[in-house]
Amino acid sequence: MRILLIEDEVKLSAFIKRGLVAERYAVDVAKDGRSGLELAETYQYDLIILDLMLPGMDGSEVLRRVRKQNSSVPVLILSARDSLQDKVSNLEIGADDYLTKPFAFAELLVRIKALMRRGPVNRASTIRVSDLELDRLSQQVKRAGHRIDLTSKEYALLEYLMSNAGRVLSRNMIIEHVWDQSFDGITNIVDVYIRHLRNKVDTGREPKLLRTVRGVGYTIREGAEA
Ligand code: CA
Repeated sequence: MRILLIEDEVKLSAFIKRGLVAERYAVDVAKDGRSGLELAETYQYDLIILDLMLPGMDGSEVLRRVRKQNSSVPVLILSARDSLQDKVSNLEIGADDYLTKPFAFAELLVRIKALMRRGPVNRASTIRVSDLELDRLSQQVKRAGHRIDLTSKEYALLEYLMSNAGRVLSRNMIIEHVWDQSFDGITNIVDVYIRHLRNKVDTGREPKLLRTVRGVGYTIREGAEA
């Protein structure tokens, strides 16, 4: 596992590197934004640890450029900036986690391991299936360019189906992802919501995208009938 650490405080980066190497990670260090970005564009890293206040190019700009290339590498921001605004805006432009300085090395390590376990994520902001389009940033859904209004549960269900387009999802999988774990209500809740979605997404339109796979569950796809 190879980690890129972009951090201009020499003592701090040496401390982090020492700790990570002891955990058997390979670590490259960049002392400014530009050389960090260059390394990120040149090598395949499993994770980037990114400071925000950096000489040359600040961390947010580095992050923006890394994401522009559609890179799915996990990015953990490590910064003294602790305002909610800083956290939210960096998470919005594609950071996966945010840890504020000062920090305990043990916590950094736990978060790194969690990100690595999760692996690369499909972070395209727009998902399409046929002429159906879902924008994760604005949470808007359109079919053939016409906006479709969904409740938040309907949206969550559609997002789950569309991010797994072509894959059959069982009712249990859907309940686990869209409802929370404490949900123990009626199991036909999924069927009820699929019906609502069908009415909004498929009724009066071709091709039909939401499909029932008898005895198994549901899927969304264009193409031949299941
Ligand atoms: Ca700094």
